[in-house]
Amino acid sequence: MAAEPRFKRVLLKLSGEALMGDLDYGTDPAQIERIAHQVKEVQARGVGVAVVVGAGNIYRGLEGAAKGMDRATADYMGMLATVLNALTLQDAFERVDVHTRVMSAMAVTEVAEPYIRRRAIRHLEKDRVVIFAAGTGNPFFTTDTAAALRALEIHAEAILMAKNGVEGVFDADPSLEPNASFLPEITHRQAIERGLRVMDSTALSLCMDNDLPIYVFNMADERNIDRIVSGERVGTLVSNDAREAVPEKA
Ligand code: UDP
Repeated sequence: MAAEPRFKRVLLKLSGEALMGDLDYGTDPAQIERIAHQVKEVQARGVGVAVVVGAGNIYRGLEGAAKGMDRATADYMGMLATVLNALTLQDAFERVDVHTRVMSAMAVTEVAEPYIRRRAIRHLEKDRVVIFAAGTGNPFFTTDTAAALRALEIHAEAILMAKNGVEGVFDADPSLEPNASFLPEITHRQAIERGLRVMDSTALSLCMDNDLPIYVFNMADERNIDRIVSGERVGTLVSNDAREAVPEKA
């Protein structure tokens, strides 16, 4: 029998890239279906699941700004793009019979509920998966910060940070540095100080200040979410009481 789940409520951060699978752009239906099955499995074990979704598979505000757009306008476009991803996920979740609500930080009332914290908690209590769309609703932020913020607001015990094809946190970018070392555990502070790409520094600071652990894992392995929820050590744990980061050879 599977172990008693370690958490009652988690927040799953899905970057836009995590929805792309092997594609260069957009969403891979097979990948989305796999995600839906994993969420269903974990939820069936009695773990409340909220999701924050990014939009890097469609649009990033910084790239728009780099091409000469006003940064705030570009960021609002990025937030709107997360709504598309949220609806894609909702559709996939419902096709596997997972009741889902999309709550948006920007008003798009025809397709999503407005974000109301107590209502989000109520949905979770009723075993619905809640997908948070439109990030924080503010330009100059990222969906990583939205993940930290919403996780704290709904009293999630951990953030599960899905990476596309990367096992966790390394001391350098493994796609550029073949000798990069894998870090099984690291503190938030070390991640910030060493500029490791777990999350952006605003999001990491929020997690550090509020003692929220982050599990960084490879989305490509379909057992990983279930394993983390079972208390197995998978990927990298970022937490205030992590042991001093000891690199392991990749
Ligand atoms: N964004 C924003 N405020 C937020 C969240 C997101 O302005 O609170 C915009 C920003 O332009 C960002 C884009 O939405 O580039 C997509 O989000 P993100 O880059 O975090 O997506 P991910 O990297 O997770 O796919």
